[in-house]
Amino acid sequence: MNSTSPTPNDNKLAQQTPARPPLKSLDDALLELLANASPLTSVEDVLLQLADGRVLGNDVVAQLDVPGFDNSSVDGYALNVADTSTALREGLPQSARIPAGHFSGNLAGGTVARIFTGAPIPVNANAVVMQEDCLVSPQPGGDVVRLTQAPTPGQNIRMRGEDIANGQVVVRKGTRLTPAHLGLLASIGQAHVSVLKPLRVALLSTGDELVMPGAVAADALPPGAIFSSNGFFLSTLLTRLGAHVTELAIVADTLADTQAALQHAANDHDLIVSTGGVSVGEEDHVKPAVQSLGSLDLWALAIKPGKPFAYGRINRLNAASCAHFVGLPGNPVSSFVTFVVLVRPFIDRLLGVSHAGVHALPMTAHFNWPKPDKRREFLRVKRNTLGGLDLYPNQSSGVLTSVSWADGFVDNPPSQSISRGDTVSFWPMSQCIA
Ligand code: AMP
Ligand code: MG
Repeated sequence: MNSTSPTPNDNKLAQQTPARPPLKSLDDALLELLANASPLTSVEDVLLQLADGRVLGNDVVAQLDVPGFDNSSVDGYALNVADTSTALREGLPQSARIPAGHFSGNLAGGTVARIFTGAPIPVNANAVVMQEDCLVSPQPGGDVVRLTQAPTPGQNIRMRGEDIANGQVVVRKGTRLTPAHLGLLASIGQAHVSVLKPLRVALLSTGDELVMPGAVAADALPPGAIFSSNGFFLSTLLTRLGAHVTELAIVADTLADTQAALQHAANDHDLIVSTGGVSVGEEDHVKPAVQSLGSLDLWALAIKPGKPFAYGRINRLNAASCAHFVGLPGNPVSSFVTFVVLVRPFIDRLLGVSHAGVHALPMTAHFNWPKPDKRREFLRVKRNTLGGLDLYPNQSSGVLTSVSWADGFVDNPPSQSISRGDTVSFWPMSQCIA
């Protein structure tokens, strides 16, 4: 027998005091997690006005120039700068009137055209003067327009193709569409877009203590019970990422109930997200349940809040495929933070999103944090009117008020204390949840 093999005695000991797994850094965990996320490829066509937040499935190429013609950026008078000296001295007669949406032919030499914002520049004109800079005198034969300053060629003209050139890729595959993208796509005439099909996510909350809000009145909550809150922010965060979320009933703390819920969810979802029950106490059934239905890695993350985290796969019944499984901690703040730092990038990878991730900003701490944790911390902070960051006074992983108050997190390296005036790395909440 090899001298390092466990003896039956060692095994017994190991059962009594389970060894603590070494802490895993967030970067390592993220790499490992993302390695499991092969991008999905099924796309569908949706109406442009329904595409906000969806992930574009192909490059979209412009079939025209935008603007499609040179046009005026102001209300004023179009002229040719060759006529400047007459225009300054005695003025030029108005020979045409061009509202937006109306095409005009040539501008007669030695004249101006009254023109409005967005209207096409007539042939032969090469500048537009704002009406505020013109002196207009009505004459029996029509208005005469005198300038107060010499115009420069191209002045107040928006050139054909200056926004988008015909043949240009306007929005790339893998872009999560925003309202501005929808406007841009409309400007090149797209009424539909091809987007990734929504990820089907099942969400389950585990815990005998949990009661759904609405099931009983606040003053009738049984002793020891709490209202379940995690599902509410998680389903919203998931929906914002373009997932179709099925929120399952609360799962009791038994192995059989946990197995049944997971097996049921695996059949018609791409991803199962659970909260709670992911530690290794005897009331934590997620680990054995997932192991019995597929495979599981349970990690102790070197972050605070958010230590326990599980990734696994659950085999589908009667199918040679499986669903991804992610187990988040039960403490609400831990659950929120692990979603932001791990689940969100995982979903983005599944949907093939490019340019994912948070761009941290250097900001000044207006607080002291003298007793840092050995783990990397995500502190709940808010920008103040002096341009610095304030810290929420209670950073406990159960205090969800800290997250609702905060407008971001400080990503604090392991064991790093913070003194007022230090530069810290700030993750804006808007980037974490959109
Ligand atoms: P657990 O990870 O199951 O040990 O739970 C850790 C803590 O989070 C316990 O105090 C739970 O009561 C709490 N918790 C678990 N799930 C939820 C939930 N869905 N909403 C609010 N608190 C929860
Ligand atoms: Mg629990």
